[in-house]
Amino acid sequence: VRAIILSVGDELTLGQTVDTNSAWISRRLAAVGCDVAAHLTVPDDQHAIEQAMLESVGRCDFLIVSGGIGPTEDDLTRQALAAVLGEPLELNEAWLRELEAFFRRVKRPMSPLNRVQAMIPRCSRMVANTCGTAAGIDATYQSGDLKTTCRVFVMPGVPKEMKAMFERDVLPHVRAAGGGAAILSRTLHTFGLGERAVSEKLGDLMRRDRNPSVGTTVSGGVVSLRINSRFGSEAEAKERLDDTVGACRAALGDLIYGEDEQTLPQVVIEAFAWANGGSAPPVPDVAVAESCTGGLIAKMLTEVPGASWHFAFGWVTYSEYAKTKLLDIPEALLKEHGVVSEPVAAAMAQQARIKARSMFGLGVTGIAGPDGGTPVTPVGTVCIALHGPGATNVRTFHFPGDREMVRDRAAKMALTMLRYRLLGKELPF
Ligand code: ATP
Repeated sequence: VRAIILSVGDELTLGQTVDTNSAWISRRLAAVGCDVAAHLTVPDDQHAIEQAMLESVGRCDFLIVSGGIGPTEDDLTRQALAAVLGEPLELNEAWLRELEAFFRRVKRPMSPLNRVQAMIPRCSRMVANTCGTAAGIDATYQSGDLKTTCRVFVMPGVPKEMKAMFERDVLPHVRAAGGGAAILSRTLHTFGLGERAVSEKLGDLMRRDRNPSVGTTVSGGVVSLRINSRFGSEAEAKERLDDTVGACRAALGDLIYGEDEQTLPQVVIEAFAWANGGSAPPVPDVAVAESCTGGLIAKMLTEVPGASWHFAFGWVTYSEYAKTKLLDIPEALLKEHGVVSEPVAAAMAQQARIKARSMFGLGVTGIAGPDGGTPVTPVGTVCIALHGPGATNVRTFHFPGDREMVRDRAAKMALTMLRYRLLGKELPF
């Protein structure tokens, strides 16, 4: 089963509103095994809407339209549909009574303009709107030679109204036409290796003709695996999806930190919670002393609800003065090794741990750029130390990119070092 999604609205083509409806509808269609051939967006222009509809009806089984069915003169989707179907618009008495009842309920006079919302092309069906006044339309397009048939659903543009109508009155028809087929998806997230290195480890799993398919995307240094499983039944799609997730996990091991909506800081906080058996730890789990990341690690950790049990304290010791005064880092150490050095990062981590009386201390010092680099410590050099019971891990990284990227990757790498330590393992890169 194949669908095309058509969004109507000047605000969409002008870029003033992001078309979230199409993305949402696509995901819902995929869940019932329906392929989406295209997303189209046109302004509130009857000719443009007609053109888009005429181009689509021969290419799909379902044309899913949203927007342009309000009461104002620039809402022209119903007129365009009537023209494409070659049918006149007729007043639907039942919906007119619904509209009148709605306005009586909200104690507002009904404008004559609202009557147009009860008009639908002859031979089509009105679809009730439980959240607003714009009813939807269910129509079937058939070409003169009967070779082309396409079911057209028109829904309101307002996302909340559209979603309610789609779930109740549109999706069941697509699901029935698909005979129970399903596309199920899962996303696995990794941090630390580049996209190429990750795909090399996945090898054959990434073959283009494989089902379930495995593809990679990168965002903010996080390399994610998108797994899509399309089969004739939901049960089969789920079973095969689980098998492929298992195979990806076997290939990448602990490089995978989370699934779907899980974030790296969330996983770290969850690992602390798990290590503490779900109760408050006797001492806070981690404190941070940050220089080039300027509080980013503290921000990431405290974004997670429930972080207060685990995150103790954070110092932003950006200047040498702050490092010596607030963290008691010896001036001699700064002079001997330089501010961006492994001994200084280690001392920051250790002092953070001691001063906060926490289980772990993280220390980060580096050069985010664009200035300040030297041949020995170029821009992107970041030393990260993790001090904890029994051991201090210190590493120097060279992160590519601009200031924002260097800071972001350094913070994520610090959390990754913490995650591996909680797993009782060495960093694998
Ligand atoms: P009405 O004119 O009665 O509000 P309508 O069904 O004709 O209803 P539109 O006028 O097209 O809908 O849009 C109503 C609201 O919904 C607007 O705020 C618009 O920004 C938002 N909207 C419309 N289409 C989309 C879309 N594809 N994605 C996200 N928001 C949308």
